[in-house]
Amino acid sequence: MSAALPALFLGHGNPMNALHQNAWTRAWAALGAGLVPRPRAVLAISAHWYIAGTAVTAMATPRTIHDFGGFPRELFAMRYPAPGDPGLAERVAGLLAPLPVGADQSWGLDHGTWSVLCHVFPEADVPVVQLSIDETRPPEFHYELGTRLRALREEGVLIVGSGDVVHNLEAYAWGGRPAQPYDWALRFERTVRERLVAGDHAALIDYAALGNDALLSVPTPEHYLPLLYVLGASVPGEPVTFPTEGIDGGSVSMLAVRFG
Ligand code: ZN
Repeated sequence: MSAALPALFLGHGNPMNALHQNAWTRAWAALGAGLVPRPRAVLAISAHWYIAGTAVTAMATPRTIHDFGGFPRELFAMRYPAPGDPGLAERVAGLLAPLPVGADQSWGLDHGTWSVLCHVFPEADVPVVQLSIDETRPPEFHYELGTRLRALREEGVLIVGSGDVVHNLEAYAWGGRPAQPYDWALRFERTVRERLVAGDHAALIDYAALGNDALLSVPTPEHYLPLLYVLGASVPGEPVTFPTEGIDGGSVSMLAVRFG
């Protein structure tokens, strides 16, 4: 049996999930508790580090970034003190060479990362490195980087993409108001699941060709692109499962995708 760790995409949804206990956060906790072997580190690709370039956090002690506004004080008080892993940052840069990868000393852990990891590894005892998403590059580029990161799964590193397959905040029902999922959100999420199960990577990379549902579900790419890193890091033919699902606030998909 292979000792490879799974590759995970987690739909993080509302930052308040960091403070809540619900079906999604319980599933994230169960995922973390059930991992064999236990990861020695996490490489996180978060929708919220979307910049002009590829960089890795290279500091030994990443700060907790509260990259949002209009949330309760207790969310701003939240800290996720997981250590960094400068050695893993170097290893990632090596795998992606000759692509220039910046050794970042100023970012840290943004809420795309800590709002889920605080449930997956509540003790914050697994080191975390973040990889940025280069906003200037097309979807194929991000998938290709994922393929080059696949080797980490054999090295005790858990690859976690954090975004949302459907992420339309203009249509989102803020304030916890009950909301029926939009038809286009349900359809697009279903299409993504079907393409994942079918192993149809080309359709998932060229998601914009999936039509109007894609336009509404992915109005900007940053929450979708972490999925392409995880897809790239998958091994052809390995099983895909969906540890969490559901549409939050009408227009945000909480779908999680697990390879292996
Ligand atoms: Zn987000």
